[in-house]
Amino acid sequence: MDLLNTLVDKGLRRELPTRDEALAVLATSDDDLLDVVAAAGKVRRHWFGRRVKLNYLVNLKSGLCPEDCSYCSQRLGSEAGILKYTWLKPDQASDAAAAGVAGGAKRVCLVASGRGPTDRDVDRVSETIKAIKENNEGVEVCACLGLLSDGQAERLREAGADAYNHNLNTSEATYGEITTTHTYADRVDTVNKAHAAGLSACSGLIAGMGETDEDLVDVVFALRELDPDSVPVNFLIPFEGTPLAKEWNLTPQRCLRILAMTRFVCPDVEVRIAGGREVHLRTLQPLALHLANSIFLGDYLTSEGQAGKADLEMIADAGFEVEGTGQVTLPEHRAAGGCGSGGGCGSEGAEGGGVCGSAPAAQPAEVRTDLVAVRRRGAGTDLAPNA
Ligand code: SF4
Repeated sequence: MDLLNTLVDKGLRRELPTRDEALAVLATSDDDLLDVVAAAGKVRRHWFGRRVKLNYLVNLKSGLCPEDCSYCSQRLGSEAGILKYTWLKPDQASDAAAAGVAGGAKRVCLVASGRGPTDRDVDRVSETIKAIKENNEGVEVCACLGLLSDGQAERLREAGADAYNHNLNTSEATYGEITTTHTYADRVDTVNKAHAAGLSACSGLIAGMGETDEDLVDVVFALRELDPDSVPVNFLIPFEGTPLAKEWNLTPQRCLRILAMTRFVCPDVEVRIAGGREVHLRTLQPLALHLANSIFLGDYLTSEGQAGKADLEMIADAGFEVEGTGQVTLPEHRAAGGCGSGGGCGSEGAEGGGVCGSAPAAQPAEVRTDLVAVRRRGAGTDLAPNA
């Protein structure tokens, strides 16, 4: 297929595809899906080999957020029955992080609900970062605390943070339909603050919120422009009790196309399969490893993932290997210019060239509320974490 040959060539050269090429990937038929995966897989292997980086989420503060992000179970007015607790103490967070590291994670992602941290919160998280770094040699720490004020990114960097995550989530054109309490520009500003402070920027998206293919291409192109080292691709978990509870729009095949498009647009970036992996990719998760080079191990912030042991077995069975702390995640040109830690931190339409147009229609999305389990273990509970 001409389209895929072109995209592989561009991916190996780090050349930006055209918007029509990116849209065409999303419009491919199920008959062409394995060809799409194989093509994007060549780009993935060129930059990242068969390594899979494992990341571990620690939810430092859960629920009770004043913001109104429609997709979020922790939002203002959420009726989702999630765990709600205030800041974990540094030793509690360090214990949770250690479980993830023992399970194979090389990055710990410290996340707190809220619009953004106060300076006191930055102090708190700085103590937590130091505790985790002391107890887990070589671990990378990424903070995700919301919108940053001036000087906060620098303080987190000084405390030892390697990276900062703040997702764009969706296109600028549709951002106001998803959230009203802050803007797309606020989010861009925080990613830029992280970059400017010398933190490795991590910024990604959420698919499945009712967006069009054009929206998905817009947000992935915007991410390429922002130039983060890592791009988490979330698939909406439609929590009961949130405004998007009825948005079951994703099929496993569409998730693979979205990951492939992201890989072609951001070829040398750590593409991470984030929330919703088990719910939406289901039995096709191993195919997604040919596209993304990074996943979360175990549970998510407010929902449970598959057992950490099952993640490790899947990686081995699919012929991939878990990336060790001694291995550098990012390609040389990117690792050298980025994170000082040395490890690197890091619905439809579209026509487009080269895609066979006569294939059968794609499968409709299934409602799988049976696969959504609210997290009841790990941080903020007395039960052992899943790692
Ligand atoms: S700011 Fe964060 S925690 Fe708060 S509603 Fe939005 S996504 Fe959820």
